[in-house]
Amino acid sequence: MAAPTPIADALAGWAAAARAAEQPLPDKFPCAACGIDRIVNAKSGTIRKHKAAKSDVLPCPGSGAPVLSARVPARSARGYYKDPETGDRYPSVTTLLDKGMAKAALSFWAAKVVAETAMDNLPAMLASSRTPEEREEFIKWLKNEPIRRRDDRGDIGRAVHRLIEARILGEPPPAQLASNPEFAPYIDHFHDAVRTWKLRFRASEMVVAHPGENYAGTLDYIVTSPLLAEALSLPPRSLLMGDTKTGGELDRVVYSGHKHGVYPQAGAQMAAYRAAPVGWLRDGTRIDMPECAPIAVVLHLRPEGWRLYPARCGDDMFQVFKGAQFMADFETYRSKNVIGEALTPPAPTSDAGDATTGRKDVA
Ligand SMILES: [Zn+2]
Repeated sequence: MAAPTPIADALAGWAAAARAAEQPLPDKFPCAACGIDRIVNAKSGTIRKHKAAKSDVLPCPGSGAPVLSARVPARSARGYYKDPETGDRYPSVTTLLDKGMAKAALSFWAAKVVAETAMDNLPAMLASSRTPEEREEFIKWLKNEPIRRRDDRGDIGRAVHRLIEARILGEPPPAQLASNPEFAPYIDHFHDAVRTWKLRFRASEMVVAHPGENYAGTLDYIVTSPLLAEALSLPPRSLLMGDTKTGGELDRVVYSGHKHGVYPQAGAQMAAYRAAPVGWLRDGTRIDMPECAPIAVVLHLRPEGWRLYPARCGDDMFQVFKGAQFMADFETYRSKNVIGEALTPPAPTSDAGDATTGRKDVA
């Protein structure tokens, strides 16, 4: 077995950085260029445009620079992360995987959800079939059901992240989560998983980027656990990347042989995070990413219980991610220059008769 890997110093300040990020941005912040406290735009978190000296004709180069947590790249609605300091834009890991990896199961799932919802709402469906307007309204509601289900799962995912954050900060679970009966079983199972494997969270919801390979993403968490490391034959202090999945059904095996809700794409996803050399602490500090183990964990968290699955996320899985990235790039850009206009049939010429004869000969 290899020598124990020390916990990288890079993550040592995580809790302090997370706590700092919870504070509202200051009204004023020292400008990196002129060194004077300058007004911070509350909305963008950037230093307001100013001159370093009254006689200057040009604004101070520190104008517009983001401060503290505003330096962390944020995901846009269109699936990009923008680095506020450099202006660089990176496609998000999950968007690339969604575009570049075939997910036939997803369309079957959506079809099933819509069919079931229609059956469960038969009287309403019949009633709405009387006028074209009501019909259209009902169809719109019906086809949005898969999106609503996905959003509900997102709510649970966010609740779990808040719990992890509370653990890292050494705080009790937020009251509004603990008192929500819908979240209660998830929370109990989460705590059971943490106790069972003695998980220590080192970072959560961390934005990472790979400028060289042009992508960025938000990893769920990084943990250490000597028990887990032993089970995976890894050095005891290994940093393990982790991801929570709240969909599917515990232990159910789907036709492709995977566990329902725990899909192998997770390996490619975490391989991309693991290969990213740059990360941001919550307070905006940019760090070199510490090395994580080539095996990650997926926590399948359901109201009926929990399972912890190991997942490959090494170089082989990174190649899979690169394949998806290549296909996503095709979908987004190059697919637009493949098919040309319908060809105009050639104008008939004087020897058109010969061509007709020729065709007949072939037939
Ligand atoms: Zn300045």
